[in-house]
Amino acid sequence: MIVGAGPVGLYIGERLSSEGYNVAILEEHSEIGNPCHCSGLFSTHIFDIVGKIGVLHPAKRARIHAPNGEVLEIGNERIRGFVVDRVEFDRELARRAVNRGAELHLKTRVKGVEYPRVYSSTGEYRARIIIGADGINSVVRKSMEVKIPRIIGAIQAIARYESDDIERVEIFLGNEVAPGFFAWIIPLFDDLAKVGLASYVAPWHYLRSLMKKFKLKPLSIQGGGIPIGSVKRTYAKGTVIVGDAASQVKATSGGGVYPGLISATCAVETAIRALEIGNFTDSTLFGYERCWHARIGKELKRAYALHKLYRKLKDEDFNRIVRDLKDEEILRIINEYGDIDYPSHTVFKILKKKPSILKYLSIPARPYRRRI
Ligand SMILES: Cc1cc2nc3c(=O)[nH]c(=O)nc-3n(C[C@H](O)[C@H](O)[C@H](O)COP(=O)(O)OP(=O)(O)OC[C@H]3O[C@@H](n4cnc5c(N)ncnc54)[C@H](O)[C@@H]3O)c2cc1C
Repeated sequence: MIVGAGPVGLYIGERLSSEGYNVAILEEHSEIGNPCHCSGLFSTHIFDIVGKIGVLHPAKRARIHAPNGEVLEIGNERIRGFVVDRVEFDRELARRAVNRGAELHLKTRVKGVEYPRVYSSTGEYRARIIIGADGINSVVRKSMEVKIPRIIGAIQAIARYESDDIERVEIFLGNEVAPGFFAWIIPLFDDLAKVGLASYVAPWHYLRSLMKKFKLKPLSIQGGGIPIGSVKRTYAKGTVIVGDAASQVKATSGGGVYPGLISATCAVETAIRALEIGNFTDSTLFGYERCWHARIGKELKRAYALHKLYRKLKDEDFNRIVRDLKDEEILRIINEYGDIDYPSHTVFKILKKKPSILKYLSIPARPYRRRI
């Protein structure tokens, strides 16, 4: 039984149904992909897992705007990721799951879980294994008495926006733009873009300011949340949580689809093992946590550490960092190694080349000596 028909739940549903298991996916909304609160900027790695679906166009470049207006241009002709139609992306995953035999129960809101029972708005279900892929406010996670350390507000609008290069995204830094995070404009078509931000405070207020600055009028607005920090446990008797429900999100960018899908591969493998041997206790389900820690946990931890440093930056630090990054050798590193899903690799390479940036991040430039 899977709770939540977002990309993570649907992918798990497809994989388990393909193995011949009876799978039910419970989704509270009446249609897949709606409401959509995602910008749909996906790394190329995602398509290695699910194939090329929902793609609108490639994303090759980024223009980073410092608070003082200085601009850093990164990227070149190499494809770093794709901008997708997130609604179509989710719907294709749903089609695949259903074609493989999964039962999709729409308009079915899960209200509580007491393994092996799942209580929903349409009745009670029983399952051998319960997979919570029900997003940031996960009912399954709450049934395990597990909390996400923090959820920050994120909001975005679809607006008419003329872009001279739809393969370039715009990123805006600064405490007057999006305190603790950043704002973005991601072109969908020549004349339409997703304009959004995440912020520790008042995201609505900051989105309004951004829209005003660019004289943009929203055609639609969606709010959501980004989970920050790791949860203490992602399994319990007969139950696992995956994706946003388990806070498997990069704290540097808020991107959760790639880490969610990687963790989903672990959930599938562990569920198959548990179903094969008929053991749904911690001794089997712990394998899920061990697996996702090994496949993506380290990068998520690094992203969180970087986010904590980033949050402390003042506007003048952003200005200096953007200026310092405008260096031929640094730009070469970014353009050669930049990877949306593994930003820490590039950040460490940059810091090695330009240790002066460390002082803005409140890290001593010289490594600590180990005490013996
Ligand atoms: C503004 C914004 C922009 C973003 N942009 C990007 C981006 O560009 N790239 C990227 O990788 N990530 C992005 N993300 C993050 C990304 O959207 C999530 O990480 C991703 O959707 C997580 O997938 P999921 O399947 O775990 O959860 P979700 O997509 O949240 O799906 C959970 C599903 O469970 C359902 N559900 C919830 N509770 C219940 C219940 N009680 N009963 C039944 N069903 C329930 C929900 O209706 C939903 O369909 C963005 C997030 C926000 C807020």
